[in-house]
Amino acid sequence: MLANMRLVLDGGALVANWRTLDQLSGSAGAGAAVKADGYGLGAREVVRRLSAAGCQDFFVAHWGEAQALTGWIDPARLAVLHGIAPAEEAAALAGLAVPVLNSAEQVSRWKAAGGGRCHVMIDTGMSRLGIDWRDDISALCAGLDVDLCLSHLASADEPSAQNEAQRQRFEQVRHQVKARRYSLANSAGIALGNGYHFDCTRPGLALYGGVPCDALAGHIRPVMRLEARILQVRQVRAGDSIGYGATFTAERDMRTATLSLGYADGFKRALSSIGAFRSGDVHLPLLGRVSMDLTCIDLTAAPELGEGDWIAADVVLPAVEAATGISQYEWLTQIGRRFDRIWVD
Ligand SMILES: *Cc1c(COP(=O)(O)O)cnc(C)c1O
Repeated sequence: MLANMRLVLDGGALVANWRTLDQLSGSAGAGAAVKADGYGLGAREVVRRLSAAGCQDFFVAHWGEAQALTGWIDPARLAVLHGIAPAEEAAALAGLAVPVLNSAEQVSRWKAAGGGRCHVMIDTGMSRLGIDWRDDISALCAGLDVDLCLSHLASADEPSAQNEAQRQRFEQVRHQVKARRYSLANSAGIALGNGYHFDCTRPGLALYGGVPCDALAGHIRPVMRLEARILQVRQVRAGDSIGYGATFTAERDMRTATLSLGYADGFKRALSSIGAFRSGDVHLPLLGRVSMDLTCIDLTAAPELGEGDWIAADVVLPAVEAATGISQYEWLTQIGRRFDRIWVD
């Protein structure tokens, strides 16, 4: 543990969030999107905890992500959202995970290869991945052993007529594609109500402490705390400036700390001058610009802290999204590799 930065990850909160989302999913079971290495927190640790809690369905984007989970999960429980390119077919047939077939071409290749159980993605209005809901999906999917038939909501996190339109299209899909189970809702989709739950929901963001819509505020617990060590403490004098571009000039003598944390670690430059840190309840403002590897703060209000001490960034996901315009999804998934990831619980 040589790092001067650590992510403290609350496993109890992760599990509590999954249980909450599972309950909010009504009779449907909540799965878990663990793509992008569990939204940056560490897919293996997430899978281990949520499996133990009873989560049955996990979703990654890439086959490489499935490979990284070998030994951590029953491959029949792991879906690869990006489908199967010809080069990935062997991995899929060998049972590394279950492919989500995204096109007529993938369906016919899977059939020709004698592939077994699979999932199918139907596009109901996002025009990204999946078979168009207006195609002859009933004929296309005939003969497939479909476990999960899924679609994805484009605007679940806002009140939009598109949600109801997609839901109605998916109802039609359900009568055309024979599958064991049907799945439409992501985190925000769960909050849209029973009509969106079908058999399985697929939360990602909210598991990790993100709050995609007001309806989930108050239900979701924060999971990560971002901490950095104080590398140096300084006495800055009135008139001195701090950091690149000298955007902050001290109006009084002050005690400052330089932290081992910067935008290379995903601590966004957009927090320059507006971010903050905390020591207990004491608020410690960020001074000047965030550099690549360093950030300076006003330590005057925390005289007990010195070089080598840890200090927590005030990164509450919905709040930093509001303050910077950078989405909670980006905040999570761009957290750097230099952090030690430390799970408590
Ligand atoms: C990422 C993803 C999810 C999870 O979405 P959140 O908004 O993070 O809850 C669900 N389904 C699909 C197809 C996804 O790509």
